[in-house]
Amino acid sequence: MDQALHLHDEARRPPRLAGLVPFSGCDWPGELACVVFIAGCPWRCRYCHNPELQQRVAPPGAPQWDEILGWLPTRRGLIDAVVFCGGDPLVEARLPEMLAQVRALGFKTALHTGGAYPVRFAQCLPLLDWVGFDIKHDFADYAGITGVLNSGEAARRSLDLLLASGVAFECRTTWHPILQDNAALLRLADTLATLGVRDYALQCFRPTGCHDQELVRQPVGLPDAQLLSALAQRFDHFTLREAA
Ligand code: SF4
Repeated sequence: MDQALHLHDEARRPPRLAGLVPFSGCDWPGELACVVFIAGCPWRCRYCHNPELQQRVAPPGAPQWDEILGWLPTRRGLIDAVVFCGGDPLVEARLPEMLAQVRALGFKTALHTGGAYPVRFAQCLPLLDWVGFDIKHDFADYAGITGVLNSGEAARRSLDLLLASGVAFECRTTWHPILQDNAALLRLADTLATLGVRDYALQCFRPTGCHDQELVRQPVGLPDAQLLSALAQRFDHFTLREAA
C-alpha cells in the first residue's frame, strides 16, 4: 500500500484501544488517574508481561474512544488525569488529538512509552504533563531485549526530545539478572545521569504473563544492596519497584 495513503487511513480510523482501567493510584506517582491501553507495539521485549498488547488489534469488548470521552466528564472530582499506556501508545496515529481532547475536558495527561516513534513523541510532548519513559538497556544494546534493530536509536532520540521538552518525567528500567548485570546497570545509570535524568526507577522483573521461559524459570529476588546504593547516588530521586 502507498505509504502516504496508509498514514492517511491510520489518522482517520477510530483509535485502536485494548482496555481501560477506570481508577489507578500507581500509574502516575502521586496522581489519581484512569488508564487507557492502546493496542500495538513494534518491539518484542523478552520480559514483556503484556504480550497480548503487542498486536495492533483491539480485543473483543475493548472500549471505544468516543465512549471514554463521554464517560470522562462523569469522573471529575474523582480522578485528575488520564494515563495512556500500551503496548507503546505512540503507535496510535491519533494520540496527539486524543491528548488534546483529554486536556480540553480539564484533565491532566500522562504517557508510558519506550519512545519507539520519536516523530510522534515530538507531536505529543506539548500536550503532556508527565511521562514514564522505559529505558531497556544501554542504547547500543537495545536489540538484545527488544528484538528490533535500531530500537536503541529511536529510544535515544525520544529521550533527547523529552529532556529538551521540560515535561516532568521518570525513567525506568525493568531488571532481570540474565539481561542486565550490575556493571551494565551502573553504566546505564551513569549515561542517564550525565544526560540529565534526575528521577529513576528500577523495576524488578515480573514473571506473570511473560512468555520467555528462560527468564521465567530463573528466580530474580532483589538487586544487592551495594548496587541499589550506587544507583541511588546517581539520581535526585531513586525508586526500587519490587515484583508484585
Ligand atoms: S515495549 Fe513494552 S509493550 Fe512493547 S514489547 Fe516491550 S515491554 Fe512489551
